Amino acid sequence: MGGFSYQLVEEVAKEIYIRALKQLPPDVVTALQHAHNSESDETARGILQTILQNIDIARDRNLLLCQDTGLPVYLVKIGSGFAADGARIAAALHSGAKRATLEHPFRGSSTHPLTRVNPQNSVGRGLPVIHWEFDQDADTLDILIIPKGSGSENMSAMKMFIPADGVKALKKFVLDTVVDSGGNPCPPGIIGVGIGGTADLVGVLAKKALARAVGSTNPDPQLAQMENDLLLAINGTGIGPMGLGGDTTALAVHIESAYTHMTLNPVAVNTQCWAARRSRAVIHRNGQVDYGY
Ligand code: SF4
Repeated sequence: MGGFSYQLVEEVAKEIYIRALKQLPPDVVTALQHAHNSESDETARGILQTILQNIDIARDRNLLLCQDTGLPVYLVKIGSGFAADGARIAAALHSGAKRATLEHPFRGSSTHPLTRVNPQNSVGRGLPVIHWEFDQDADTLDILIIPKGSGSENMSAMKMFIPADGVKALKKFVLDTVVDSGGNPCPPGIIGVGIGGTADLVGVLAKKALARAVGSTNPDPQLAQMENDLLLAINGTGIGPMGLGGDTTALAVHIESAYTHMTLNPVAVNTQCWAARRSRAVIHRNGQVDYGY
C-alpha cells in the first residue's frame, strides 16, 4: 500500500465514475425488484422487468447502464483527521472525471452553455460539480459521485415560498413538479427535495437528498412523515414507469432541510431517474480505499 496521494484521489475519482455508470446501488435494485413484484399494471410490470434485465446485463457484461453518462457531481467529506489540500483534491477530481471519459471511453456530455461546444471529456468551467463537507469526527476522505443524466436533471425545479403559503403549498409544488415531468425523467426514481436555506443552498439540499440510500428516512419525524405522504401522493398519480401508467412513479422521496430566513421558505426538487447511480470511495491515510455506495 503506497499511502495517500493526490494521484490516488485522481484514480479513485476515475474509478467511481465508471463504477457508478455500471453498477446500481443494491438499495436501488431492491426497490426496483420490489416495485416489479407489487405492480398491478401489466405494462408497468413489463417495463420494470426490462429495467431489471438492463441492470443484469450491464453487470454481467461490464456495460454502461445508460447511454447518458451524465455530468459528474462529487460530494466530498473531509475528516478533521485527514489533513489535505482542498485545491489539489479538486484538481484530482477534475482529472479523474476527465480521464474516466477519455480512457474508458464513454460519451462526454459537458457543453459550453452558449456555443454548445462539447469537449467530449465531461468537464469544463465549473465541472465537475463538487460539494464539500467537513466532519470533525472522521479521519478519512469520503468521495461520492452521482453522475446526473439530463432527462431527470431537466425536470428539476425551485420556488421561493413565503411562510404564509404553508406546508401544503410546499407539498403541492413537489407533486406538481412530478406531474408536469410525466415520463421525461425516466421514472421510477428518487425525488430529492430541499427545504429551507437560501436560493442556492436549497438546490444543494435537493441534490444531497438523492445521495441517500433508498429506504432511509429523514431523522426529523415531521420530515419523515412528509417524505412518506409525498411518496404515497406521487405513486397515486398513476404516471408509472416511464410515464406509461402504473403504481410506481417514484421509489422514494428524500427530503433534506436547513434553517431559513423567517420570511423565506425555498423549496427545490431534484429529480432522479430509475438509473439512480451513485458510487463511493472512502480513502484512508495509509492509502487503503473502501469502495461502496
Ligand atoms: S434520465 Fe436517467 S435513465 Fe433516462 S436517459 Fe437520462 S440517465 Fe438514462
